[in-house]
Amino acid sequence: MPNSYTIILAPNPSIMTGPGTNTILLGSGVDGAIVIDPAVDDAAYLDALVQEGARRGGIRRILITHGHHDHIDGAVALRERTGAPIYAFSRKGAPVTDEEIADGATFPVGDDTLRAIYTPGHHFDHLCYLLEKTKTLFAGDLVAGVGTVVIKPPEGDMEVYLNTLKRLQEIDIAEIVPAHGPTIGDAQVKLAEYIAHRMQREQQVLQALEELPPDATIPQLVQQIYTDVDPRLHGVAAWSVEAHLLKLEREGLVERLEDGGWTLVRPTA
Ligand SMILES: [Zn+2]
Repeated sequence: MPNSYTIILAPNPSIMTGPGTNTILLGSGVDGAIVIDPAVDDAAYLDALVQEGARRGGIRRILITHGHHDHIDGAVALRERTGAPIYAFSRKGAPVTDEEIADGATFPVGDDTLRAIYTPGHHFDHLCYLLEKTKTLFAGDLVAGVGTVVIKPPEGDMEVYLNTLKRLQEIDIAEIVPAHGPTIGDAQVKLAEYIAHRMQREQQVLQALEELPPDATIPQLVQQIYTDVDPRLHGVAAWSVEAHLLKLEREGLVERLEDGGWTLVRPTA
């Protein structure tokens, strides 16, 4: 019987999802199969999940990484077809949830164990799932194989996201399977790159505030900073800049003016 996992690509490609959502199937035998992130209510795609699930002893559980549409929109239809309950961090994040699970919840997968790791930042309810012996991390939208991870306040939080990335640096991970794009072999290199990239953007936000008039708006900051990014992504970049500003505001480095603009906090003599 199959031991490892299978990735089935959901038919939902877009500028935000890249080639589409990677839906994961794993498990076999008496425990049956687990599905992570059934992404769309599409008959042919759900057929493929059910078929691969049958090869693995039948789908018994549906696990959700977080409550964004491209991770849950096939969950209800898959539950109807299989009777499998839906597990997620919270009903607040994913209203379709049957059973809420916390950090550390485990599920049997053959002679391995799948463990939920609470990883907020991209979204407040985000869970990654780690196959403990194999050391494969099913990462949802924590890390992306293509494109970028969106941090959109208030459900997304840059400071929380960076702390989550740092927490994962302390876990032995062999490979990361993201929800979008190809598998990442060198997990710790990728995590370090992600942290460095965000810190670089934060420095660019501070630099741009230095250069712009002292009531800079988020669109002005995006124009100044994201010169290397497709303008179609400037909306996404604006969320990211806002997330950086909120972090810097908490740290006392920037402040929001009454007109909604942002400025550096200058040390007073
Ligand atoms: Zn997401």
